[in-house]
Amino acid sequence: MNFSNLNRNEFTNRLQAQPFDLLVIGGGITGCGIALDAALRGMKVALIEKNDFASGTSSRSTKLIHGGLRYLKQLEIKLVHDVGSERAVVHRNARHVVIPEKMLLPIQQDGSLGKNSSSLGLLVYDLLAGVKKEERRVMLNKHDTLKAEPLLAGDKLVGGGLYFEYRTDDSRLTIEIAKSAFDKGATLLNYTECRNFTYDAAGKVTGARVLDKVTGNEFDVRATTVVNACGPWVDLLRKEDNSLKGKRLLLTKGVHIVFPYSKLPLQQAAYFDVGDGRMIFAIPRNNITYVGTTDTVYNQSIDKPRCTKEDTSYLLKAVNGVFPSVKLTEKDIVSSWAGLRPLIFEDGKSASEVSRKDEIMVSGSGLISIAGGKLTGYRLMAQKIVDLVAKKLGKDYGYCQTKNHRLGGGNFATEEEFVKALETFTETGTTLRVPAAKVREWFYRYGTYTGTILDNVKQLRSKAADDNTLFETAELKYAVEHELVLHLSDYLIRRTGKIFFDHPNTSKQLPVLNQLLAQLLHLNNDAASHYLAEAEEEFNSAVTFE
Ligand code: FAD
Repeated sequence: MNFSNLNRNEFTNRLQAQPFDLLVIGGGITGCGIALDAALRGMKVALIEKNDFASGTSSRSTKLIHGGLRYLKQLEIKLVHDVGSERAVVHRNARHVVIPEKMLLPIQQDGSLGKNSSSLGLLVYDLLAGVKKEERRVMLNKHDTLKAEPLLAGDKLVGGGLYFEYRTDDSRLTIEIAKSAFDKGATLLNYTECRNFTYDAAGKVTGARVLDKVTGNEFDVRATTVVNACGPWVDLLRKEDNSLKGKRLLLTKGVHIVFPYSKLPLQQAAYFDVGDGRMIFAIPRNNITYVGTTDTVYNQSIDKPRCTKEDTSYLLKAVNGVFPSVKLTEKDIVSSWAGLRPLIFEDGKSASEVSRKDEIMVSGSGLISIAGGKLTGYRLMAQKIVDLVAKKLGKDYGYCQTKNHRLGGGNFATEEEFVKALETFTETGTTLRVPAAKVREWFYRYGTYTGTILDNVKQLRSKAADDNTLFETAELKYAVEHELVLHLSDYLIRRTGKIFFDHPNTSKQLPVLNQLLAQLLHLNNDAASHYLAEAEEEFNSAVTFE
């Protein structure tokens, strides 16, 4: 059966019929990672997500698989080692969505980074993360730094360092993990919310009462163990479980703003000093460059964090300070996103100082909650949780198998195989009159599944009015039939990132895309209008700052 909302009835039946070994609540990268690890070890797994997969923090990050250079400054040596070495693992398992990215670290007079300390820091970073020789840091003098990035302000520049990180698309990585868990037998469903928990006579958690947000029906999902992986919402469910005691979440907001590449044409990604002790990234990606992030304590609505005027002015000031010739203003911003870091509160520490380490909390009822951490370390977090779950289940489920498990779309043994696959898809595309650039775009989004989209092109060509509609329908059909898309926003935000990476073009096509989606999903008029209005609202809010 396909991972499609066309099969939604079957999935809700499955959720009600079975007692599961493990119920995971929350379909961000943490929850999906846990579902995959547990399914690979042979557990019977369910995962419910109240909105769409990755609709929380996991679509609103800086989109880097990185070791966290700045944590070195805070002497978080183990964190840098663990997540740093994990970069190569995540890349190997999902080459199509985790791509090496050269990063420039400019060193400025009066900045918080000295030339010698940066050189040593980057070296330690490479060693801790076990970086291969050809990707180790290279230190540059002032002349070579300016050659590497002519937009930098020359007057205060002392030199620079070039090192490697990996860039990703956070929500695509999440959906590939979800698809892999589904392939291994897990039952995962979006738009299904945990309202509260069910307990036995001894007060031990036995599952959850959930709401199907499509039909409005409520039902119980029974499970021997329950994991709360709700990111910024973790404490709300701990409260529901009457176990919100001791450690609590501290939410901090991080914002990114997006410019057309022509307005901020960087030669490579940069990570630079802002002057207030913080550092931010500027990352070019195809036709855009995005800049972020902020880090401010957040106490407002968890469901809809927004990018404010204060956030945009902070980032504009920072980017104009380092690249003075670009003179960016708010009018140049073509998109934005804001996310919440679910951190663990530490007395007396500011937002930027609080550790990004993950934390597991087990309540008296047996509810396991996990928060904190990073995208990069998702697999290690999942391993810890599933080890704990296996212990609670009291059965031998063997070792964690995710280290060498290729994720959906990423089934390539080697880099050579990856390159060859792109060539082969490009040749097939040529025979179907699909431009090489389009095939490449799909390949870096769907990896091996590009073949299914090309099959769709073949099947639909005679029915489509023009090539653009044909390509869009072929891709949308794949997302509906294999990636559990339900709302237009699922497709435009979490499956393709078009709201961030192609906002101006996509915003003009919303009604047409919604109509295509309504046909594929057999939506009634009410649902179709609702999903269109929702997408319009999201597109507007990405370019409106209050
Ligand atoms: P989420 O992604 O928020 O998932 C929780 C899910 O639970 C949500 O989808 C939500 O809808 C669901 N949920 C909530 N309540 C319920 C309920 N009652 N029933 C069912 N479902 C529910 N990490 C990196 O490694 N690299 C980076 O570059 C990076 N940059 C970052 C930049 C910013 C600005 C931020 C905020 C974070 C960044 N991080 C980065 C950290 C990383 O993004 C997070 O650690 C990670 O995404 C958290 O994932 P999660 O699954 O725990 O939470």
